[in-house]
Amino acid sequence: MNILDFAINYPDEETCRKKFKQLRDQMGVTCRRCNCKEHYWLENKQAYECKRCQARHTLRSSTVMRHSNLPYRYWFVAMHLLTATKGSFFAEISVEEKEKPLKRGRGSQKKTKVLVMAESKTVENPKPGKKPKKVRYLKMKVINELKTDTITKNVKEHVESAADLTTDDSTSYTKLKEHVHSHTASVVTHEELPNVLPWVHTAISNAKLQILGVYYKVKPEYL
Ligand SMILES: [Zn+2]
Repeated sequence: MNILDFAINYPDEETCRKKFKQLRDQMGVTCRRCNCKEHYWLENKQAYECKRCQARHTLRSSTVMRHSNLPYRYWFVAMHLLTATKGSFFAEISVEEKEKPLKRGRGSQKKTKVLVMAESKTVENPKPGKKPKKVRYLKMKVINELKTDTITKNVKEHVESAADLTTDDSTSYTKLKEHVHSHTASVVTHEELPNVLPWVHTAISNAKLQILGVYYKVKPEYL
Protein backbone atom coordinates (compact mmCIF):
# COMPACT_ATOMS: atom_id res chain seq x y z
CA MET A 1 0.00 0.00 0.00
CA ASN A 2 1.49 3.33 -0.94
CA ILE A 3 0.85 6.55 0.94
CA LEU A 4 -2.05 7.51 -1.35
CA ASP A 5 -3.87 4.21 -0.81
CA PHE A 6 -3.17 4.65 2.84
CA ALA A 7 -4.82 8.08 2.88
CA ILE A 8 -7.86 6.67 1.04
CA ASN A 9 -8.21 3.61 3.29
CA TYR A 10 -7.70 5.53 6.52
CA PRO A 11 -9.25 8.92 5.84
CA ASP A 12 -10.04 9.90 9.42
CA GLU A 13 -9.62 9.22 13.11
CA GLU A 14 -12.83 7.17 13.37
CA THR A 15 -11.72 4.74 10.63
CA CYS A 16 -8.35 4.29 12.31
CA ARG A 17 -9.88 3.71 15.74
CA LYS A 18 -12.28 1.08 14.34
CA LYS A 19 -9.44 -0.64 12.52
CA PHE A 20 -7.37 -0.63 15.68
CA LYS A 21 -10.26 -2.16 17.65
CA GLN A 22 -10.60 -4.86 15.01
CA LEU A 23 -6.88 -5.66 15.21
CA ARG A 24 -7.00 -5.81 19.00
CA ASP A 25 -9.95 -8.18 18.89
CA GLN A 26 -8.02 -10.40 16.52
CA MET A 27 -4.98 -10.39 18.81
CA GLY A 28 -7.09 -11.04 21.86
CA VAL A 29 -7.23 -9.10 25.09
CA THR A 30 -5.77 -10.49 28.30
CA CYS A 31 -6.87 -9.08 31.64
CA ARG A 32 -3.96 -7.44 33.43
CA ARG A 33 -5.43 -8.29 36.82
CA CYS A 34 -6.58 -11.92 36.47
CA ASN A 35 -5.22 -13.03 33.07
CA CYS A 36 -8.73 -13.85 31.89
CA LYS A 37 -9.09 -13.67 28.11
CA GLU A 38 -12.85 -13.08 28.00
CA HIS A 39 -14.04 -9.49 27.81
CA TYR A 40 -17.12 -7.44 27.08
CA TRP A 41 -16.73 -4.41 24.86
CA LEU A 42 -18.26 -1.28 26.34
CA GLU A 43 -18.91 0.94 23.37
CA ASN A 44 -19.85 4.04 25.39
CA LYS A 45 -16.68 3.73 27.53
CA GLN A 46 -14.51 2.62 24.61
CA ALA A 47 -13.07 -0.02 26.96
CA TYR A 48 -12.97 -3.76 27.53
CA GLU A 49 -14.39 -5.19 30.74
CA CYS A 50 -13.07 -8.47 32.07
CA LYS A 51 -15.87 -11.05 32.32
CA ARG A 52 -14.37 -12.54 35.45
CA CYS A 53 -13.09 -9.60 37.55
CA GLN A 54 -14.76 -6.62 35.82
CA ALA A 55 -11.42 -4.82 35.44
CA ARG A 56 -11.54 -2.30 32.59
CA HIS A 57 -8.92 -1.91 29.92
CA THR A 58 -8.88 0.89 27.42
CA LEU A 59 -8.37 0.17 23.77
CA ARG A 60 -4.81 1.44 24.06
CA SER A 61 -3.81 -0.37 27.25
CA SER A 62 -1.01 -2.93 26.84
CA THR A 63 -0.13 -1.51 23.43
CA VAL A 64 2.61 0.86 22.29
CA MET A 65 0.04 3.64 22.47
CA ARG A 66 -0.78 3.15 26.14
CA HIS A 67 0.93 6.34 27.32
CA SER A 68 0.03 8.38 24.29
CA ASN A 69 -2.75 10.88 23.74
CA LEU A 70 -1.97 11.25 20.08
CA PRO A 71 -4.76 10.42 17.64
CA TYR A 72 -4.86 6.89 16.28
CA ARG A 73 -4.32 8.25 12.82
CA TYR A 74 -0.91 9.67 13.78
CA TRP A 75 0.10 6.23 14.95
CA PHE A 76 -1.24 4.66 11.80
CA VAL A 77 0.76 7.04 9.64
CA ALA A 78 3.91 6.34 11.65
CA MET A 79 3.40 2.58 11.45
CA HIS A 80 2.62 2.78 7.79
CA LEU A 81 5.84 4.67 7.12
CA LEU A 82 7.81 2.13 9.14
CA THR A 83 6.39 -0.90 7.38
CA ALA A 84 6.32 0.69 3.94
CA THR A 85 10.03 1.52 4.11
CA LYS A 86 11.00 -1.86 5.51
CA GLY A 87 11.18 -3.33 2.02
CA SER A 88 13.87 -0.96 0.95
CA PHE A 89 15.94 -1.52 4.07
CA PHE A 90 15.95 -5.23 3.46
CA ALA A 91 16.58 -4.73 -0.21
CA GLU A 92 19.65 -2.70 0.60
CA ILE A 93 21.06 -5.47 2.76
CA SER A 94 21.01 -7.85 -0.15
CA VAL A 95 22.67 -5.25 -2.35
CA GLU A 96 25.43 -4.87 0.24
CA GLU A 97 25.87 -8.63 0.21
CA LYS A 98 26.16 -8.74 -3.52
CA GLU A 99 28.89 -6.15 -3.32
CA LYS A 100 30.77 -8.00 -0.63
CA PRO A 101 33.49 -9.44 -2.84
CA LEU A 102 34.33 -5.89 -3.87
CA LYS A 103 36.29 -3.51 -1.73
CA ARG A 104 34.22 -1.51 0.70
CA GLY A 105 34.44 2.04 1.97
CA ARG A 106 36.79 4.50 0.41
CA GLY A 107 37.97 3.36 -2.99
CA SER A 108 35.17 0.87 -3.37
CA GLN A 109 33.97 0.37 -6.90
CA LYS A 110 30.74 1.71 -8.33
CA LYS A 111 30.07 3.97 -5.39
CA THR A 112 29.83 7.71 -5.60
CA LYS A 113 32.49 9.50 -3.65
CA VAL A 114 31.19 12.02 -1.17
CA LEU A 115 33.47 14.26 0.80
CA VAL A 116 31.97 14.77 4.26
CA MET A 117 33.17 17.72 6.32
CA ALA A 118 31.99 18.54 9.83
CA GLU A 119 32.89 21.55 11.91
CA SER A 120 33.01 20.56 15.55
CA LYS A 121 34.23 21.71 18.93
CA THR A 122 35.66 19.45 21.61
CA VAL A 123 33.37 19.12 24.62
CA GLU A 124 34.97 19.30 28.06
CA ASN A 125 33.91 16.31 30.18
CA PRO A 126 31.30 14.89 27.79
CA LYS A 127 28.39 13.11 29.45
CA PRO A 128 28.49 9.31 29.24
CA GLY A 129 27.08 8.13 25.95
CA LYS A 130 27.32 11.61 24.43
CA LYS A 131 29.69 12.54 21.66
CA PRO A 132 33.04 14.06 22.63
CA LYS A 133 32.47 16.84 20.11
CA LYS A 134 29.78 19.41 19.42
CA VAL A 135 28.89 19.99 15.80
CA ARG A 136 28.07 23.25 13.99
CA TYR A 137 28.27 23.16 10.22
CA LEU A 138 28.19 20.09 8.01
CA LYS A 139 29.01 19.91 4.36
CA MET A 140 28.76 16.98 1.97
CA LYS A 141 30.08 17.26 -1.52
CA VAL A 142 30.06 14.78 -4.35
CA ILE A 143 33.55 14.62 -5.82
CA ASN A 144 34.68 12.94 -9.01
CA GLU A 145 37.83 11.38 -7.78
CA LEU A 146 39.97 11.05 -4.71
CA LYS A 147 43.05 12.72 -6.13
CA THR A 148 45.13 14.91 -3.85
CA ASP A 149 44.41 18.03 -5.90
CA THR A 150 40.62 17.54 -5.74
CA ILE A 151 40.59 16.97 -2.01
CA THR A 152 43.00 19.80 -1.30
CA LYS A 153 41.02 22.23 -3.44
CA ASN A 154 37.78 21.40 -1.62
CA VAL A 155 39.31 21.63 1.81
CA LYS A 156 40.86 24.99 0.91
CA GLU A 157 37.48 26.19 -0.26
CA HIS A 158 35.39 24.98 2.68
CA VAL A 159 37.67 24.76 5.71
CA GLU A 160 39.10 27.77 7.55
CA SER A 161 42.87 28.00 7.66
CA ALA A 162 42.75 28.28 11.47
CA ALA A 163 41.10 24.86 11.79
CA ASP A 164 42.58 21.80 13.42
CA LEU A 165 41.72 19.06 10.99
CA THR A 166 41.08 15.43 11.90
CA THR A 167 40.79 12.97 9.04
CA ASP A 168 41.08 9.33 8.29
CA ASP A 169 44.23 8.25 6.55
CA SER A 170 44.81 8.63 2.84
CA THR A 171 47.66 9.56 0.57
CA SER A 172 45.22 12.07 -0.96
CA TYR A 173 45.43 14.12 2.23
CA THR A 174 49.17 14.72 2.20
CA LYS A 175 48.93 18.39 1.21
CA LEU A 176 46.18 19.36 3.66
CA LYS A 177 48.48 20.49 6.46
CA GLU A 178 49.69 23.33 4.23
CA HIS A 179 46.22 24.86 4.36
CA VAL A 180 45.08 24.38 7.96
CA HIS A 181 46.44 25.07 11.43
CA SER A 182 47.08 21.39 12.10
CA HIS A 183 46.21 18.06 10.58
CA THR A 184 45.81 14.76 12.42
CA ALA A 185 45.37 11.76 10.18
CA SER A 186 44.94 8.23 11.43
CA VAL A 187 43.83 4.94 10.00
CA VAL A 188 40.22 4.67 11.13
CA THR A 189 38.52 1.30 11.11
CA HIS A 190 34.78 1.06 10.65
CA GLU A 191 34.37 0.38 14.38
CA GLU A 192 36.45 3.37 15.44
CA LEU A 193 34.70 5.86 13.19
CA PRO A 194 32.06 6.93 15.78
CA ASN A 195 34.86 7.88 18.22
CA VAL A 196 37.41 9.47 15.92
CA LEU A 197 35.05 11.24 13.51
CA PRO A 198 31.75 11.19 15.44
CA TRP A 199 29.88 13.79 13.42
CA VAL A 200 31.05 12.59 10.05
CA HIS A 201 29.87 9.16 11.11
CA THR A 202 26.49 10.46 12.31
CA ALA A 203 25.97 12.59 9.22
CA ILE A 204 26.70 9.66 6.92
CA SER A 205 24.43 7.30 8.87
CA ASN A 206 21.55 9.76 8.94
CA ALA A 207 21.88 10.62 5.27
CA LYS A 208 21.96 6.93 4.32
CA LEU A 209 18.97 6.12 6.49
CA GLN A 210 16.99 9.03 5.10
CA ILE A 211 17.75 8.18 1.49
CA LEU A 212 17.25 4.43 1.84
CA GLY A 213 14.02 4.96 3.73
CA VAL A 214 12.51 6.48 0.64
CA TYR A 215 14.50 5.15 -2.30
CA TYR A 216 16.04 1.85 -3.24
CA LYS A 217 19.04 3.46 -4.87
CA VAL A 218 19.91 6.98 -5.88
CA LYS A 219 21.73 7.97 -9.04
CA PRO A 220 24.84 10.07 -8.43
CA GLU A 221 23.32 13.08 -10.20
CA TYR A 222 20.63 13.34 -7.52
CA LEU A 223 23.01 13.28 -4.58
ZN1 LIG B 1 -9.91 -9.93 34.98
